[in-house]
Amino acid sequence: MIRLCVNCLLPSSKPDLYFDEEGVCTACTAYFDRPNIDWDKRRAELLKILETYRRSDGYWDCLIGVSGGKDSTFQVIKMLEFGMNPLCVTATTCDESELGRKNIENLKNLGVDHLQVSPNPLVRRKLNRLCLNEVGDIQWPEHVGIFTIPFKVASQYEVGLIIYGENPQNEFGGPDLAAKANVMDRRWMEEFGGLLGLRVSDLSETYKIPKKNLVPYEYPTLDELSKSRVSAIFLGQFLPWDGFENYKCASDSGFLPYSADIEGSIGNYENLDNYQQGIHDYFKYLKFGFGRATDIASLHIRRGRMTRDEGLRLVRERDGRFPWSYLGKTLEQILKPLEMSVDDFVAVCDRFTNRELFASDLEGNLIKDENGNLQKRKDWLA
Ligand SMILES: [Zn+2]
Repeated sequence: MIRLCVNCLLPSSKPDLYFDEEGVCTACTAYFDRPNIDWDKRRAELLKILETYRRSDGYWDCLIGVSGGKDSTFQVIKMLEFGMNPLCVTATTCDESELGRKNIENLKNLGVDHLQVSPNPLVRRKLNRLCLNEVGDIQWPEHVGIFTIPFKVASQYEVGLIIYGENPQNEFGGPDLAAKANVMDRRWMEEFGGLLGLRVSDLSETYKIPKKNLVPYEYPTLDELSKSRVSAIFLGQFLPWDGFENYKCASDSGFLPYSADIEGSIGNYENLDNYQQGIHDYFKYLKFGFGRATDIASLHIRRGRMTRDEGLRLVRERDGRFPWSYLGKTLEQILKPLEMSVDDFVAVCDRFTNRELFASDLEGNLIKDENGNLQKRKDWLA
């Protein structure tokens, strides 16, 4: 039996999400706990950390990993406000969208130095296909790269502090300790940094990807890290974090949203930088029975910007639609560089579909409508 949080819409099938006796999820509890947080104190703590790293010689004093999204634009705006001199680093997304590129240009024009690291696209396509097949995550290389690449660059250029945005374990629900962490270290990365049990060493040993192709995906060794003394913080632990507010702030500085609501989601202002995102979100739905629409609706419900009923209606309408397109690019076009057909793709989807969550017929075939959309089993409570 799957139940939903009585306050938001997150389901009990979400990994690392827990419910209290009243049926409220840990993501909501963490959010409701916010007024008890002394934000002035947190802000003072942040300023103290920034002071420790601030350089008097004019060199970069922090590094911001920037995708070009609303949150990274907001992070840059904040660090400039605090008078920091950031080096911004983009680990290129797996299938960079036109809009994503424009938003990176916009971010640079806030007035920062910027470095882009683009791992070998031929290897990456191979990894996209392999990781989709093996762990059901087409964006595995990207999820790993957004952690490894900033650390590597920070080590290399001797920039002591990396500024990340939100601790995803916090608002989206996660183990208590991970949610409260304000420092990201190797352990956090290994546990929550998107590896999904597939380690970089597995790629060379089990899947025979030459080691020389995996440099961008290797986390610096503990030795390298302690030598260069790189630390990372989540800005969301020090400032009240709200994706929608961040969007408004970014938008005032030229950040561009998509021209319509994004396929399978609610709103037009996030996850705009990678055409593969729709596939990624769809696999989350296949595995856990909820997609991006649930996440976004839950954020809005917690903040009173949407009623739970309205959220539920939107989720039923949009969540987990078969990803025929994303940001206007067709599935066929998105799969082509991976040398994968739509039929191949459907076969992988079926393999990763959680049959405890989705209905099958008497022969055990998944029940789908004419557009390939699955049907949830009846024991799914709303
Ligand atoms: Zn909740």
